[in-house]
Amino acid sequence: MKCSKCDNKAIIKIPYSNLALCKDHFIEWFEKRFERIVDKYKMFENSKKIAVAVSGGKDSTTLLHLMKKLSEKKGFEIIGINIDLGIDMGKQYSSKSTEFALKNFEMLGVKYRIVRIKERYGFTIDDAKHKIKRPVCSTCGLVKRYTLTEVAEEEGADTIVTGHNLNDMAQFIMAGYFNGDVRDLARLDIITPPEKGYRVMKVKPLFLIYEKEILTYALVKGIPFLYDSCPHTFRVGGVTQDTIRRKLEELEETIPGYMLMLVENFINKIQPALKEKYIKEEELGHCKICGRPTTKDREICSFCAVRLKMTGQTVNIK
Ligand code: SF4
Ligand code: ZN
Ligand code: ZN
Repeated sequence: MKCSKCDNKAIIKIPYSNLALCKDHFIEWFEKRFERIVDKYKMFENSKKIAVAVSGGKDSTTLLHLMKKLSEKKGFEIIGINIDLGIDMGKQYSSKSTEFALKNFEMLGVKYRIVRIKERYGFTIDDAKHKIKRPVCSTCGLVKRYTLTEVAEEEGADTIVTGHNLNDMAQFIMAGYFNGDVRDLARLDIITPPEKGYRVMKVKPLFLIYEKEILTYALVKGIPFLYDSCPHTFRVGGVTQDTIRRKLEELEETIPGYMLMLVENFINKIQPALKEKYIKEEELGHCKICGRPTTKDREICSFCAVRLKMTGQTVNIK
């Protein structure tokens, strides 16, 4: 298979664009595509300091490399944030993740923070798995969102970027339809404005980029990343979620560009309509422990409820 743009051997086929690309032309095409998406959706028009959430996997490390390049072009500042969640399960998953994040921070010379939740909040995700009734991934998601927002605010960032890719988005959308969870779908945005009283917005710049393309980019650019998946992964929605993802990937094989259309149409047409109908400006209260916004009927936020259960501590009272 020859590259569509030169005589070299192609390393990847992009069926939905009818392209086959060699290493150099793929890198050029991929970086341009990332920039076009960022510009089209006006992702960083007002961003001055962007916090990049880096778990150490292929998506977030690739995102860090792309953001570093973009920051030099557009003139914003970036800071990498890695959260050590304390997931071990005999596989040292979190410490390995942090090791890979650190390799990338040092390789690119970007400023960074590594936050160990055991030191910061007094418990780990592995501890929470046994003590908190909700599914471990739900606790973990809550802890990650809370920590990321707090640390980004402490660093004076106005934007957080995360590495959710096109396959993740397609899976979230189909799972939302499957569960009939209209509110979750209404909240599935690519640019989430800051919570009331806060300044940091959240953006998913890789939302239209296929997992396979990200993996290829990471490999050809020699980006160090952790191959292992989290030992709790199988709990994320269990078999149903895995099957949805696999079936979507099979559909993509038969109908090239299927996931792209699904996600683009959802974000451009369906989500705005759902948001208007289902997301109302709620009157918010403030968590009695940490001071962050919470629903009016709750005295403490979900994070502080977890922390209280795990440690019995209520430090940082505001
Ligand atoms: Fe956290 Fe679950 Fe992801 Fe593991 S798979 S990092 S527990 S959300
Ligand atoms: Zn070429
Ligand atoms: Zn709180």
